[in-house]
Amino acid sequence: MKLHNALVFFLLPVILLFFSCAYAVALEAEVIPTEVGQGDAFAVKISGASLSEHPISVFRNRIIGFSECGKGCFIGIGAVDMGTKPGEYKIELDTADVKTSLPLVVKKADFPSISLTLPEGKVFPNKKDLKRAIREADKLKKIWPVSTEKLWSGEFILPLENGISTVFGTKRVINKKKNSIHRGMDIRGKHGEKVKASNRGRVVLAEELFFGGNTVILDHGREIYTIYMHLSAFSVKRGDIVSKGDIIGLVGSTGRVSGPHLHFGVKIMGANTNPVSLIGLDL
Ligand SMILES: [Zn+2]
Repeated sequence: MKLHNALVFFLLPVILLFFSCAYAVALEAEVIPTEVGQGDAFAVKISGASLSEHPISVFRNRIIGFSECGKGCFIGIGAVDMGTKPGEYKIELDTADVKTSLPLVVKKADFPSISLTLPEGKVFPNKKDLKRAIREADKLKKIWPVSTEKLWSGEFILPLENGISTVFGTKRVINKKKNSIHRGMDIRGKHGEKVKASNRGRVVLAEELFFGGNTVILDHGREIYTIYMHLSAFSVKRGDIVSKGDIIGLVGSTGRVSGPHLHFGVKIMGANTNPVSLIGLDL
């Protein structure tokens, strides 16, 4: 047998076996963090893999959208709905090489309660305004399930670096009559202060809404959206691609508010997500 034939018949399979074993051993998957609160975001990261196809990860019957993050690296961001029962859950992971599950502990979140006073017309809208608000809510509902290519990269940033006035999940009693749950966080701000994009994304909405006032919604890809409300002015229009830190608008007091501030919201996999948890993720 000639030398090159010997190589093909004996050495090549050995080399291939070595590499496939090396890849199988090197495959690592982790959930960041392993313990979250109700309404929190989490990331699933796979590294050291040489996968011929994208991995699939499922949490509570919802698929977490993975994107490549380098050679053999895949990352996906998911979220726990604020109504999720505390307990131990499993994230199913299915790659070309491995089928496994990763544990995720959901702890009870301590959502505070407050009472506040707002203009009656914004708390109990008239028929025409109510119709408008319902129409707008329907429009937003159609945005959240759309999964596009990943535009975000690295950590998400705060759009405005002032203190928080109302935290995510706060139960609000408005004008002593109406109950509502705060589905974002309110950041203190003066009229005209610049609001930054939390990450790279596409502007999918930049318009005035009944409750939200002047609102910008960014699509970061893979069912991750950030929402900016009550702006006094827009610096972007629908269809624009913005980079992390770009100015998207100015702080204002449009919509249902008692004073100027920024309402910053996050939607992941359709769930209202605590923005603090997304910004705190070590991505
Ligand atoms: Zn708010």
